[in-house]
Amino acid sequence: MVRAEQVHKSFGPLEVLKGIDLEVRTGEVCCLLGPSGSGKSTFLRCINHLEKINAGRIWVDGEPIGYRERGGKLHEMREKEVAAQRRSIGMVFQRFNLFPHKTVLDNVTEAPVLVRREKKAAARERAAQLLERVGLGDKLGAYPGQLSGGQQQRVAIARALAMQPKLMLFDEPTSALDPELVGEVLDVMKDLARDGMTMIVVTHEIGFAREVGDSLVFMDGGVVVESGNPREVIANPRHDRTKAFLAKVL
Ligand code: ATP
Ligand code: MG
Repeated sequence: MVRAEQVHKSFGPLEVLKGIDLEVRTGEVCCLLGPSGSGKSTFLRCINHLEKINAGRIWVDGEPIGYRERGGKLHEMREKEVAAQRRSIGMVFQRFNLFPHKTVLDNVTEAPVLVRREKKAAARERAAQLLERVGLGDKLGAYPGQLSGGQQQRVAIARALAMQPKLMLFDEPTSALDPELVGEVLDVMKDLARDGMTMIVVTHEIGFAREVGDSLVFMDGGVVVESGNPREVIANPRHDRTKAFLAKVL
């Protein structure tokens, strides 16, 4: 579902990604770990072309991101095509970025109606189902400010799912939450994973990585230091940098 080959990304003179290779198969959950500044967020943003890569290639569902193959050659996509590609990739951030002046239901309904041109009634019905699924069936009319951080993050997940993505990217979805609210968000993510969603999750929740992850990728300094089965990597990290990092977050 996702394949990255030798992805390089620089901001001016600062080389942030120095040749990232990664593969995530359909239905798999890949957990991305690494110290602050190692390039995790930048890499996620490259996957949905919020950042343009300087070298390498990324494919999602067989399509090269940001490029189209025509007559055996690669052509850069126009912004409109990029937007279309991005629509099939859901993203959830550390901060929930909900529309504060819209109800929970309207937050989840907006993009399907405006972007996917779904009929309003159908979009509302599906939004209500999604909100039920993330445990917020009784909050459809509430405003984000009336919800806890964990509830807001679950709305953000429902909002991303409303676009019917084939891939979900999570960038530290629980790190802005009070500890007692982390579990409810991870539970929703576990449920999604069980349901077969392909996910790339930047997280320091080792328990989640161990229990739900099909693969764990440890990044440091813009490279993949090691990767493999989460249980094996966590129990037996091969590299000193992985050991040192895990010792801090475990
Ligand atoms: P954290 O765990 O703190 O979220 P991260 O692994 O997600 O860290 P990134 O946010 O990808 O790290 O940042 C990697 C490096 O790239 C950092 O040195 C950061 O300052 C730099 N960087 C990120 N975005 C930009 C930008 N738009 N312009 C310039 N530098 C940037
Ligand atoms: Mg980050």
